[in-house]
Amino acid sequence: MVSSSNGNDGPFPWHLGVYDAHCHPTDIMSNVSKIQNMKARCLTVMATRGEDQDLVIKTAAQYGIKSGSPDDWPREECIEDLRIFNALPDPTPFSVFLSQTRKHLEEHPYALLGEVGLDRSFRIPEAWVPDLWATRNSTLTPGGREGRRLTPFRCQPAHQKEILKRQLQLAAELGRAVSVHGVQAHGLVYESLHELWKGYENEVLSKREKKKRGKDDPSVEAEYDKSAKEGSSGPKPYPPRICLHSYSGSASNFKQYLNPAIPIYVFASFSTAINLGDALDEETPAEFEEMINTVPDEMLLVESDLHTAGDEMDRRLEDIVRRICKIKQWGLEEGVERLGKNWKAFVFGDP
Ligand SMILES: [Zn+2]
Repeated sequence: MVSSSNGNDGPFPWHLGVYDAHCHPTDIMSNVSKIQNMKARCLTVMATRGEDQDLVIKTAAQYGIKSGSPDDWPREECIEDLRIFNALPDPTPFSVFLSQTRKHLEEHPYALLGEVGLDRSFRIPEAWVPDLWATRNSTLTPGGREGRRLTPFRCQPAHQKEILKRQLQLAAELGRAVSVHGVQAHGLVYESLHELWKGYENEVLSKREKKKRGKDDPSVEAEYDKSAKEGSSGPKPYPPRICLHSYSGSASNFKQYLNPAIPIYVFASFSTAINLGDALDEETPAEFEEMINTVPDEMLLVESDLHTAGDEMDRRLEDIVRRICKIKQWGLEEGVERLGKNWKAFVFGDP
């Protein structure tokens, strides 16, 4: 086989550090110990429900990173994320849930908020009947759907949005990054974020204005935009960094996030599981290529979004990284380094 001009068919450079921006190893706790034998350097572990927040904490305590400096990271690190997505079937008042999340975040300075988000297709599953409960797969962390039938009951988008905004405000207050999920709700996710940053937009100068202020040198401009984004005047009402995980909106829909006035650092991550319908090793569809080419290099992340740790998670990461490198015409080493740098910028913020 002839290798492509950018060397994409060569051996995979795991040694440069491959970072999963979104995954769910705590869905199957019996596989969590496999994290230490994985080739990926770091997993960003999401919580998805009340039942798994403590499991994410436990996993982070065992395998988590203890500082933002890669020199201090063990071989098998992970970052925990806390998510409370839809508390509707749960009798815990949202205020209690939110204050628990606050406590978790305060106790774990490297934790992100996630995953949180909006899902228009969401329907509440039927309650477990004792017979079914008795035969369920006990290796799965409780709280998932596990094939239960869905009721016709939905959760109003306006209600979901309100819950999402309060979670985003908590992340804003604590200065944490957020992994955001949107299912058939890309406009509404944008709207939720926009309502938070409104009034705090970066000042974007026209060419004429720049000239007037003597800022026509592009390096000065970059400096200027950065200082506007980072601003030193205390906490902002919007989270500093967000990742639109397994982004499934259209490329043209995504373009609204490219507005330089947006004061949030926005990242988009992609997975074989969601973005390519699990079609491992199959040809990359044209729409996906278009999507990846729409996302600027510094905003791209990769993820597995997989529910179990181990070789399969590594395989998914390698698949998505190879595809993205091919589309972006990056060599594998170049691409892995670029994506690793982006992951660090998302999780820790730009140094
Ligand atoms: Zn997820």
